[in-house]
Amino acid sequence: MSQTRVSRNILLAGALLLIVTASLSAYVLLSPRRTWDDPPDYVVDNRGLAGVTAADGGVNTVIAAITSNAAWNGAGTGTRLTAHAGSVAAFTLGDGIPMLNFTDPQHACNGTCLAATFTGFYSQRADGTTRIDDADIVTNASQPWVSTNEPDGCSGEYYIEGVMVHETGHGIGLGHSNVAGSTMYPSVSACNNGPATTEADDEAGVQDLYGGGGGGGGCTLLPKGAQCTSSGQCCSNKCTGKPGQRTCK
Ligand SMILES: [Zn+2]
Repeated sequence: MSQTRVSRNILLAGALLLIVTASLSAYVLLSPRRTWDDPPDYVVDNRGLAGVTAADGGVNTVIAAITSNAAWNGAGTGTRLTAHAGSVAAFTLGDGIPMLNFTDPQHACNGTCLAATFTGFYSQRADGTTRIDDADIVTNASQPWVSTNEPDGCSGEYYIEGVMVHETGHGIGLGHSNVAGSTMYPSVSACNNGPATTEADDEAGVQDLYGGGGGGGGCTLLPKGAQCTSSGQCCSNKCTGKPGQRTCK
């Protein structure tokens, strides 16, 4: 099966590939472990992607995919990211404005690279944990792209939705998993939009980061397992169980 690497996490020092060792068998968090204080609001390039023949170049289908409950916002920790169409003409790394660019002004993503997320922008909080300050995404426009909205279907192309859900996974603090079929698996085959839907391994990673159970998350509400009376008390926004025995999920 021909596979093409989905992305690289480019660090400030240069174009470094995040290496995942063969012994790992589950989700991997970016190192140092880091989270957003507030969910990022991605500006998705309103010029779209020329290789996608949908009328808007895939802008709306990408926004729908990355904010879908089938992706990170449905992973059990509430809203993890929002997105809206806008101009990324002022695309600047590290400016605190997360942008999703359908081109690659940084020339960071070439060859078999489909898209890349710049994960090198973070800082330390007063309590010693690490916050994400920015995480821009670029796209290799020379690859053959398709969206699920195209009437002619997929032929030897890569689904922009699944790839961008993968990239936004990096954007909220996840590295690559070696669990085949997971959204954060480092490569994807043509015409496979599976990464648009997160799997249990992906969701466990997000819950580790934002579910309040692992510490270091941006959530100051009750962690998983804590007794609760209403969902609003929980980092996961889910308080379930019998009356008097309810806990955060
Ligand atoms: Zn990746």
